[in-house]
Amino acid sequence: MPASAYAQPPSVPSDRSRASSQTPHASRRPPKFTKLCDLRCDFSCDPPRLRALATPVPATPAWPLDSGPRLFVDQPLASGAEVALEAGQANYLVNVMRLKPGAAVRAFDDRNGEYAATLQLAGKRDTRLAIGARLRDRESVPDLWLAFAPIKRARVDWLAEKACELGVARLVPVLTRRTVVDKLNLERLRAHMIEAAEQCGRTALPELAEPIALDALLRNWPDERALVFADETGGVPFGDAAPPAPAALLIGPEGGFDPAERDAIRALPQATGVSLGPRILRAETAALATISVWMSARGDWRP
Ligand code: SAM
Repeated sequence: MPASAYAQPPSVPSDRSRASSQTPHASRRPPKFTKLCDLRCDFSCDPPRLRALATPVPATPAWPLDSGPRLFVDQPLASGAEVALEAGQANYLVNVMRLKPGAAVRAFDDRNGEYAATLQLAGKRDTRLAIGARLRDRESVPDLWLAFAPIKRARVDWLAEKACELGVARLVPVLTRRTVVDKLNLERLRAHMIEAAEQCGRTALPELAEPIALDALLRNWPDERALVFADETGGVPFGDAAPPAPAALLIGPEGGFDPAERDAIRALPQATGVSLGPRILRAETAALATISVWMSARGDWRP
């Protein structure tokens, strides 16, 4: 590989070359904008215009733009209804957030959508939400599944939280020969996903499937769903091969897939082995990297 293919340290121009590269624009610079004019841009030194240029404009606005308390309520919501909150949620609103009766909250139910609501304290142990106007329908996220071999507790919690934030529709724990984690606490994973959904503005929770053995998963694989298999032994560059939805990503355990498993996956007509570059990524890094690339190429990160 030519030396130029590697990142080079930035070259520092000598005083002499710096002096000779001064533009007429730079020599006319008003002293108070010295730093900005060092960019030698084409713009006049106009502070409002420079401020406007520095303001990022999101391509797809993220919801919610303000960050009041937002709760998942596991019962059907409807305008005009009153719902009792679980003890943990009541504690969060009243004691952690220190909200008073009448405070505005938003609630979503993973069924009917998201609603404006107000806090009601009906008794010491009876905290309720009065449900107001519907703000949004339940969203439909891109049809992307993440099939992953369970990894250790802290890492799998993090994986579930981030997969939810990134917009995955369904998580499927897959048991492989080298999977070392034999017990997966689905309740705990679901709690992490709910918290992530509350924070990031999702109105639809990701589905969490029961763990399934790899051979059963492959045997029953749906005809129409593309399977992107992250293969550390090599494959096509994922950026060039992200299939449209419905799609799924398959990430191996810390020990990787064994050769027979790799052959079985590759034998599936819907599967494509992809490379994520020359470095071995941790399983959770590989999962989040593939979700991000797919969302950017085929998901809802584009209008
Ligand atoms: N034990 C394996 C080894 O040392 O070769 C590494 C397994 S890696 C920690 C866990 C999983 O992440 C792999 O099974 C694969 O699905 C995915 N992965 C990690 N790095 C990758 C890469 N560069 N290209 C494709 N997949 C990768």
